[in-house]
Amino acid sequence: MAFKITTWSPDTCGCVLQYSWDSSVPAEERVHTPHAILTKCAKHSETADIHIHHAQVLEENQRKNKAAGAIAAVPGITHDDIRFSYAGPVLVLRCDRLTVSEKDVLQKAFDAEHGPGMVSFDTARPA
Ligand SMILES: [Zn+2]
Repeated sequence: MAFKITTWSPDTCGCVLQYSWDSSVPAEERVHTPHAILTKCAKHSETADIHIHHAQVLEENQRKNKAAGAIAAVPGITHDDIRFSYAGPVLVLRCDRLTVSEKDVLQKAFDAEHGPGMVSFDTARPA
């Protein structure tokens, strides 16, 4: 047993979390256990339970990572072309280099994976 603590600042909100893990366990079998919350962002400030808090922040971060990965898999698109934000529970993506039909295909995949309305494209004109 080799107990380690990692501090994590997700790029999807302002929370700063710590989780613990056992470095004697092979990487693919490691379990991250919520350890502490150092900073709570405004969005997650109401979440009192540390396990629920970690699960919410992790889910939002993983949803963004998966969606951004799917967009970056489109030929000609890189991660630098993608902007994201959260509007409440909804992940809002912006990638002005995608065509309408590419967005359509991606939107269907996002709806199937995350549930309708959980990931959407910001279709407003750039400011
Ligand atoms: Zn947060």
